[in-house]
Amino acid sequence: RRAEFAAMRDLPSETKDGARVELMVNAGLRDDVAALDVTGADGIGLFRTEFQFLVSATMPQRERQQRLYKDVLDTAGDRPVIFRTVDIGGDKALPYMRQDEDNTEENPAMGWRALRLSLERGGLMKAQARALLEAAAGRTLYVMFPLISEPWEFDEAQALFEKQREWLADQRKKLPNAIRYGAMLEVPALAEVLDILLPKLDFLSIGTNDLTQFLFAADRAHPKLAERYDWLSIAILRFIARVVRECNAHDVPVGVCGEMGGRTLEAMALLGLGLRRLSITPASVGPVKAMIRSLNVEELQVFMTGLLKDGTVNVRDAMTQWAKDHAI
Ligand code: PEP
Ligand code: MG
Repeated sequence: RRAEFAAMRDLPSETKDGARVELMVNAGLRDDVAALDVTGADGIGLFRTEFQFLVSATMPQRERQQRLYKDVLDTAGDRPVIFRTVDIGGDKALPYMRQDEDNTEENPAMGWRALRLSLERGGLMKAQARALLEAAAGRTLYVMFPLISEPWEFDEAQALFEKQREWLADQRKKLPNAIRYGAMLEVPALAEVLDILLPKLDFLSIGTNDLTQFLFAADRAHPKLAERYDWLSIAILRFIARVVRECNAHDVPVGVCGEMGGRTLEAMALLGLGLRRLSITPASVGPVKAMIRSLNVEELQVFMTGLLKDGTVNVRDAMTQWAKDHAI
């Protein structure tokens, strides 16, 4: 079916009943950006900026970061690129970074990582902010912050960026035309304070990799647990459905950027929950687009509402059957 997927490259990702789905790709290295042309994706929905840090032998200085971001933006052209600030620390420790005395972590995934680390290591975040702001001069900069647990963390991160923007303006540097700030929803607690968080945001992105590991208290990298909990479980789907409803009520665009969205049946379920933006691994764009183009999403939404209300049915089995019955 490779040829069939390739032929779909330029066809719109639209359901049979006319719902447009934004299909974006996840990336992290300069070469990943070529996937935009290969797949015909709408943009990069998650650019993991920590990759540059992880493959470097020394801390990438601001100029090096800026060069990468500029290259990525130049290649992307007028397609949006959502840059996520570094998600390092914990299990993605950098050998060249100064560690604190008591940095041995029993639970690195829940430890000193991502935005928690960035906010404390202000110099690191400032350099990244300046690199992003200068790289996106003359265009829109999309930036999002990982592993937010409470709204004040978003406030602090945004304030840091705004301060750098002001500083660059004082230096008469050319700036982005606009900045769109987003948050990743990966920590379940954040879902309880969306009424406070959402009015501050330009967009929200659900990171289903970390989110499911925290919802189920199950290490995402543990081989014994990999098959145990299903993305198509009532708990996850109800959880995501609630988040999507709240985002819609606040008029805040919401997407999914975890690996869940790259699996065809899971992607279908996400559309059934009301999502219209997925950022997925490039290899999944063809199969997911094929699914979208054969789908009547309104029918699916009615079906899934019943399924989630009932709660006793095996969702994977029921959805597999539904997909078969509807020639997906
Ligand atoms: C996620 O947690 O779902 C996510 C997209 O971020 P990462 O996989 O980089 O942790
Ligand atoms: Mg994550």
